Formats: sequence, structure tokens, C-alpha cells
Amino acid sequence: MRCLFDGPVELSDEDPGATCDVEVMVGTPAPAGGLLVVLEAPTSWRIDLGLFDPSGFRGWSGSARRVVWVGPDAATPGYLPGEVVPGGWRVRLGAHAIPERRVEVGLSVFASEPKAAAAPADRSRPRLPVDDTGRWVRGDLHAHSVHSDGVLGVGELAAWAAARGLDFLAVSDHNTVSHHAELPAAAARAGLTLLPAQEVTTSRGHAVLVGVSTWADPTAGVAHWLELAEAAGGVLVAAHPLDGTLGWRLEPPGPTALLEAWNGGWSPDAHDGLARQVEALWRIGGRGFVGGSDLHAPGARRAPGTPTTWVRVPLRRGGDGEPLPAPEILAGLRSGATTVSASPNGPVIVPLEEGRVCVVGGEGLELVGTGGRRSRVTSPQNDLSAEHGPLWLEGDGRVWAAWAPPSPPLLAAGDLPGEGQAP
Ligand SMILES: [Zn+2]
Ligand SMILES: [Zn+2]
Repeated sequence: MRCLFDGPVELSDEDPGATCDVEVMVGTPAPAGGLLVVLEAPTSWRIDLGLFDPSGFRGWSGSARRVVWVGPDAATPGYLPGEVVPGGWRVRLGAHAIPERRVEVGLSVFASEPKAAAAPADRSRPRLPVDDTGRWVRGDLHAHSVHSDGVLGVGELAAWAAARGLDFLAVSDHNTVSHHAELPAAAARAGLTLLPAQEVTTSRGHAVLVGVSTWADPTAGVAHWLELAEAAGGVLVAAHPLDGTLGWRLEPPGPTALLEAWNGGWSPDAHDGLARQVEALWRIGGRGFVGGSDLHAPGARRAPGTPTTWVRVPLRRGGDGEPLPAPEILAGLRSGATTVSASPNGPVIVPLEEGRVCVVGGEGLELVGTGGRRSRVTSPQNDLSAEHGPLWLEGDGRVWAAWAPPSPPLLAAGDLPGEGQAP
């Protein structure tokens, strides 16, 4: 993904119907994948959005959309699919209902160059330790499209995730697999790996099945969902397990499950949110921690990779820049080689041998364990000894990253911390 524009745009409602055109230049060679427009503004503001290519009208969505994708053979409804031709394109913004006469909104425009051409643009990737056998890739394991209660199409989700620098995205619509047919084409256009997923959604808990293409009957129970995951080479993620009435009140997911330790809807506050949950989560038992944005619609702190799950995959010989084969990512997930950061840019807790971790990009933060030990991170790649159990990074009153080793299930069915209990 190449960034064509990224910055604040000032809008005014002084002249009724006034619009602001932001011009972006699409160079040659033309991007083969498409163009992505992301508008950031408080959800209560009504900001019109439209797009013009060098020869004229390309689409309009009024204030209905904040993420728009235009590609050669697919586009956001309201926009015309077709080649992304070189030249001056205009994004038209209109201040329809804003709280003040002048406001600033965020606007980003990306051009997608799929496959190998996409790799060099990704300069912000934190440098995680690599050894002879493996490296870390980053993605998001929980997102919804228009196939359930999300507002974005699969193409928009994929393009946005790629623009955020993610290597993979699991599209996990509720109790359906109808979106799976769209994944291969959307992945090829955006230049990342899309994992088929579904969020099995029941009144007693939500399980994201990643890598499972067959539809999972929500009435069939945890053992059946685990069987499906096993047969497909996928994984079961216990989604937002301690989240009150949406939390996990089914039988324990077992030692092969991953635990969604960080859901995009949660507060990262160190005292009220994540840190208090980490130990309780670990007691559920599972192979490791993962995170997911649970993205339904663009909004404050809601974007693909907020938070980000890192997965250790085999080191590849050549072919870097090509999207990773899904089985490699799934094998990493199944092994529990995962770690979670607030965003695609980290900071990240990377497990080394037992009792040691490397904290990448966390200078000035504190590494905290459930036993109460605190270690200050003093360098960009800081090797630290750590107590056994889950760890997190804390600073400025919030949590920035979390990791846990595999844990045996310590709780019996019915003993899971439920609604109203302090975790
Ligand atoms: Zn859910
Ligand atoms: Zn969800």
C-alpha cells in the first residue's frame, strides 16, 4: 500500500453546501489493486464523502460511509469499479452536520499495489527478533463485514487492513460463512492474507473459529466447534471471554484454544481494563493470548489491527512480499506462538527461552507480571528476565501489549469468572 495523502483537513459549514476537494496524485504505473479512502471523524458528525477520478465522477456515499474502496472489478456500493488511472483524483468532503463552524477531520488515501510490489512501502514495521527458523507477522483475528452486522464490505476491510500494514486478517462474521467466497479475490486485490473465519455466537459465549470454512452450528457446542477447528487445521478463539453478558459461560474451551485477551472494544486503561483481566484470563487455560479489533464500523480507536496479534511463522526463503499462505499462519496460531500489541506498530513482548522475553519498541514502559514484579524497559530491543505467567507492558496509565505462555485449565466448568465478578 502506498500512502497518497495522510493528514488533517479543515472543513467549514459557513457557506451552506460548501465542500472541500482534496486532490491526490496517482502516479505511474497505476496501482493494480485499487484506491482506499479512510475518513476519521467522530461518529456523531455528518461528513459527506465522494470521489472523482481524472475524467470525472467516480462515486458518492454522502455521510453513510467512512471507508471507501474502488478497484478494477469491485467497489464500495455507490462507487464505480474500474481502473485506477494515473492523474489527479479528488476526494470531496462536505460538512453536513458539525458541532462548530470549523472542524478538522482526518483523511487518508492509499493506493494498493498487490503482491510483491506492496512490500517495500511497509517501513514502519517494528523489528522483532528473527532466528534461523521463524519470524513474526502481524494481523487481526476478529472483524465483521456486511455479511453480518458490520458496515464494511470484504474488499474495504481487506484494503484497510493492508493499508495499516497487516499481513493477515480473519473476517469473522456472526454465524455465517457467506463472506468466504469473496475472500480470495479481495485478498489478491489488497495484497494480504485473508483467513476464513466465523464468530459462533450464542447467548452463553462467542467463539471465533479461524481457518474453518464449514459452517459451525451454534447449537452444537464447544466440543463440536473444536472438532471442526482440528479437522480444518484451524483454531478456536474464545472471544471477549470476561465481557459481562457477552462473556464465555460455556464449558471451558480447553488447552488448544486461544484466548482473546484484548478486544478492540475494551478500555486499555491499566487500572480498570486489561491488566485486571490478564490473570483471570490465564486461569481459563489455553494455548496463548491473541487480540482482535472486533471491528464493526470505523470509529474512535476502531480500525483493523487495534489491537494487533503477532504470530510466529516459519522463516521463508525468497518470495518475501508475497502474501503468506494461510496454513503457515494457522500453524503458528495452533502452536500458541502469539503475542498482542495495541497497534501494528507495537510495542511487542516477544517470548525468548523460558524466563526471558525481549520487549521491542517499549522504551520507558514497565514490564509487569501477575506476581507484582516490575521491570523498566530501557532500550528499543530490551532482553529482560520475567516471572512465569502472563505479562503486560504498562505506561501512561494504560496497557500497550500482553503475552502469556500456554496454561493448563485451572478452572472447572461453571467456575469461570462471570458477570459482576471482579476478574
Ligand atoms: Zn462477539
Ligand atoms: Zn465480534
